[in-house]
Amino acid sequence: MTQTTYRGYKSRLAGVLVLSISFLWTPTLFADVTLLAESNGFPGASTSNDAMLRIAVKKSSMRIINSAQFHVVTIDMEKNVFREFSAYHKVYEQKTASSFEKLRQKREAQQRKQIDEVQKLSDKEKAQALKELREDGIELNGKIVAKTERTTITKDFRVRIDGVMRNVKCTRLLIRENNARLPAFELWVTKDIPVKENFLRFYELGTFSKAVIAELKKITDFPVRIEALVDTGSVKKRIHCEIKDIETEAIPAWGFDVPKKFKKVADLAEFLKNQEAIEQGPKLNCADCSKLIPVRAKADTWVKRSKSMRKKYWFCNSECRKRFMAGTKWRTKK
Ligand SMILES: [Zn+2]
Repeated sequence: MTQTTYRGYKSRLAGVLVLSISFLWTPTLFADVTLLAESNGFPGASTSNDAMLRIAVKKSSMRIINSAQFHVVTIDMEKNVFREFSAYHKVYEQKTASSFEKLRQKREAQQRKQIDEVQKLSDKEKAQALKELREDGIELNGKIVAKTERTTITKDFRVRIDGVMRNVKCTRLLIRENNARLPAFELWVTKDIPVKENFLRFYELGTFSKAVIAELKKITDFPVRIEALVDTGSVKKRIHCEIKDIETEAIPAWGFDVPKKFKKVADLAEFLKNQEAIEQGPKLNCADCSKLIPVRAKADTWVKRSKSMRKKYWFCNSECRKRFMAGTKWRTKK
């Protein structure tokens, strides 16, 4: 008798404990979110190694910082602007929705070319080639249809939410283009993290097909792990991104725009390539201290003798320039 009462009390106690734990974790909807994610897919990164990214989401704006590479990306879904910054060189490249539309068209044109080539084959070769095309997600009609497969496979992920480590139960989702063997997206999503913004919609300013983006927009659960197949038509690359930490503090509105003194360049990758060439390329001697310096046309590092003179004097810094100009050497015409 006593034993039963004790058992009953114990199970009631357990019930109370479960209740209070779930109340501690009330599903209020987060507005501003800062995420820490491990990813190999940062745009503009020179390596494919994993890097820790800091992702800030505020309404229709997203900012991704890769501090190891001095790289920042901002996406504004309201203005349809995608910007990629080099914090080191204080330059940025800007893409709009139409820039990505052009890239999508380029990919589709590439696929049509593949279809045309298969059509030219003999019947015998055609069957095998068609099978391979279908496995790549390309259909003879040239159309791209995407669908989401919700699997029953689940997995626990460890995520720190506002400073507390939690086990988050995730379900595996696959988004596939046509009959492709490899899915365009493999997602591990959860209902346990009530973030209001579906940040998958930010992929709209990217190279994924319209059909895939439409599927991404429908997902209401929070994606803890994202694996995507980036396919430009000529290059295929698998990227991943796993959320490790979520902070739900308010984020100030500044910091999503172009910082002062940053200059726009047409092609950031091209700019960085040239910059590297300059830094490794020909060097000059400082006119004052004769130290070797890279050739860089910075206003404060060189001075002309007169407006009519072509000759430039290069300096390693403004101190050397000041010292040189205080002397008489540069004014004396030969
Ligand atoms: Zn010098």
